[in-house]
Amino acid sequence: MKYLILVGDGMADYPVPTLGNRTPIEAADTPAMDAVVARGMVGQFCPIPEGLPPGSDIGNLSMFGYNPRESFRGRAPIEAANQGITLADNEVAFRCNLVTLEDGRMRDFTADHISSEEAAELVVQLNAHLGGEFPAVFHPGVSYRHLCIVPATPEASLAALVSMNCTPPHNITDQEYAPHLPSGEGKEMIRAMMRRSQEVLPELPVNQARLAAGKLPATSIWLWGQGKAPHMESYRSKFGLTGAVVSAVDLVKGMGVLAGLDVLKVDGTTGWIDTNYEGKVEAALQALETRDFVFIHLEAPDETAHQGKPDLKVKAIEDFDHRVVARCLEYVEGHPESRMLVAPDHFTLLSTKTHASGPVPFAACGAGIPTGGQSAYSENTAAASGVLIEDGYRLIQQFLQPAPLDLEHCQ
Ligand SMILES: [Zn+2]
Repeated sequence: MKYLILVGDGMADYPVPTLGNRTPIEAADTPAMDAVVARGMVGQFCPIPEGLPPGSDIGNLSMFGYNPRESFRGRAPIEAANQGITLADNEVAFRCNLVTLEDGRMRDFTADHISSEEAAELVVQLNAHLGGEFPAVFHPGVSYRHLCIVPATPEASLAALVSMNCTPPHNITDQEYAPHLPSGEGKEMIRAMMRRSQEVLPELPVNQARLAAGKLPATSIWLWGQGKAPHMESYRSKFGLTGAVVSAVDLVKGMGVLAGLDVLKVDGTTGWIDTNYEGKVEAALQALETRDFVFIHLEAPDETAHQGKPDLKVKAIEDFDHRVVARCLEYVEGHPESRMLVAPDHFTLLSTKTHASGPVPFAACGAGIPTGGQSAYSENTAAASGVLIEDGYRLIQQFLQPAPLDLEHCQ
């Protein structure tokens, strides 16, 4: 059996007035996802367990079939695994966003989607200026997403660092940031690093050039998502499967590394609507020739929702449908021993520009997938299906068994 899991990150949403009170999925033209439903089924499931924050970290762990309550130990250490960074016993990894703060508010948690090249120069300067003053090492990542490794110190113990309350910057777009600064024991050092970055960054040539070009500068670092190295059982021992992951996002690639899957390198992936859709799909389908499983992750629906742009979110969903789902459906139709599942990892709401919990729609078809008699993929058709799986990861665990999908066993 061949298994395909396709994630349209943050695709689910509430009805939007400017889209005729339809959700972006309903407003989008999605013949491929509708065809998946028509050939198989649609239903609701919860990738975010009740009581946990609705992040891509938790949501994608569920999408990989891991119970987030057991596996999750922070987002940053997963990204560190992707970068080949091994954390020492006394070290904690923080996610380090480059952000734009303006007039006391979080203007842009992506620093205007700063390029990786520009960001890498800024990270060099962060190490040069802050590295001597604080026991911290910065590692460059993709675009605005970087890492900061902090060892335990007398001022901030390991327990304090791990349990510090840090806010994801994408949750406070346009809001005053001061109430959302890190809090709890040990916060002084982390806050001091963020303050110091605000003195260093604006002066740097990269930022001056961005201003001159009419782009937002990266005015600060924002530290969050911290944790120690997680433990994830490998796919081979957990499911008896070999597989591969394709994503533009370090978090998802890091989960692939930790799960013992092959992380495919595809040129031109951006995590945005201009990503190399065809390249990602072809790399995944090629990998599937010699493996059992592929995980294809598209970030653009989430990013466009964080920006609060309904038209762009609709376009991101249509591109995902036409250029990713359609090609995978073609594969499944041509391979009788294969099945596919399409879903978001959580809601990302245009109205609030942030994530939300709750049951999201999944569509599945192929070998051993029951047929539900519906013909459209949306939040509403999923709700009308009568299928609701509370522990989302159980659906994925069942999906990854060769037996016919038994929804009773997902409860
Ligand atoms: Zn997500």
